[in-house]
Amino acid sequence: MDYVKLINCMRCGMCLPHCPTYKETFLETASPRGRVALVRKLQEGELVESEKFLEYVSLCLDCQACASACPCGVNAGELVAEFRCESKKEKGLSMMEDLVLRKLVPHPDRLEAATAPLRLYQKTGLQQVVRSLGLLKLFPEALGRMEGLLPKLPDAPLRQTISEVTPAAGKEKGTAGFFLGCVMSLIFSEASLATVQLLSTLGYRVVTPKAQKCCGAPNMLGHDLDGLKEAASFNTDLFDSFDLDFVVTDCGGCGAELKKYGQHLDGERKAEEFSASVRDISEVLFAESEALAAKLKPLPLKVTYHDPCHIAHCQGIRSQPRALIKLIPGIDFRELPEADACCGSAGTYNIEKPEMADLVLSRKVQNVQKTGAEYLVTSNPGCLLQLKKALSEAEPQVRVIHLTELLQMSMNA
Ligand code: SF4
Ligand code: SF4
Repeated sequence: MDYVKLINCMRCGMCLPHCPTYKETFLETASPRGRVALVRKLQEGELVESEKFLEYVSLCLDCQACASACPCGVNAGELVAEFRCESKKEKGLSMMEDLVLRKLVPHPDRLEAATAPLRLYQKTGLQQVVRSLGLLKLFPEALGRMEGLLPKLPDAPLRQTISEVTPAAGKEKGTAGFFLGCVMSLIFSEASLATVQLLSTLGYRVVTPKAQKCCGAPNMLGHDLDGLKEAASFNTDLFDSFDLDFVVTDCGGCGAELKKYGQHLDGERKAEEFSASVRDISEVLFAESEALAAKLKPLPLKVTYHDPCHIAHCQGIRSQPRALIKLIPGIDFRELPEADACCGSAGTYNIEKPEMADLVLSRKVQNVQKTGAEYLVTSNPGCLLQLKKALSEAEPQVRVIHLTELLQMSMNA
């Protein structure tokens, strides 16, 4: 780890009011400043990597809100993640981590096969029985939480049903490569289909390479740097084999990772070029605002927007999604208090650290309710999963949808 990054912290505390775990605990050890100090003390040999130490650092959501607030460019979330990657490299992956991160996640066919029983579980009505009889309480806690988050799955993953090439509707402006995130394909295929259709309607030919693999974000979350590099290298080569004007994704987590491939592969030219070509869908659609506005029809809805950490803090995209929502005639846009605060999903954090995740989520739900919105728009699968469940149980209910679904709804109105 680069020691300079650690000593850049001047302990001003400006990050503290932005850190979700600090806001819930008011503990220095649960703050960005405290986490940087802990990792620094470890590097300086004044602390050992004890269980307590790991407990402190593992409470970080890696939401990177601290990085957006820090005047010195310190990124506590990234520093903690780097430390955990280094520590993992020394210890190696456990059998379960190896199974999930190396044998399952990088293989879309296996991932899709692994979710097939879940479709059956829903289609046969077994899920409804389990839920209505309250049988979830009998599941081990982590399994019960995962099941509780599961929305209705599409009939098939989008990767299996979408054509590798979707032609532009009308005069072709260029070719977009579509990076189809695993969770988007497996669970939120309707949103990703809306993304492709919007691009096509706006005159882009869309290439969705079927051989693409997971972006590597789960490897990063599991602190498996080698697995992440393998994913980066594979996807860089694959997309480079097509003649594309840019690469687009509608998954905030994937976008943040793809934009760092150059960094992950130590500045390799091809990876740097790939990263520079990556756009979040909101960036592409915002650049097409005029053409898009001409196609949108009125939607008289009260709508608010939650900034996914991977879009606001990791990619610096804040104004474009809001501007796109406001393009829709008749929309009553309500700004969400603390809109760029994490919702508590954070990869698998909501499963691993349920108590803190629930505290962070509850604050988000209360803020959404203050807006009086009927719809919450966001663009990251983790946030969609977490918020769909929480806001379907809230009173009054709030519907949670992806940005491209809202735009498509307006086009089809
Ligand atoms: S991480 Fe940045 S904002 Fe936080 S205390 Fe250090 S210098 Fe200040
Ligand atoms: S990444 Fe998020 S949770 Fe972690 S220290 Fe920064 S603000 Fe706090």
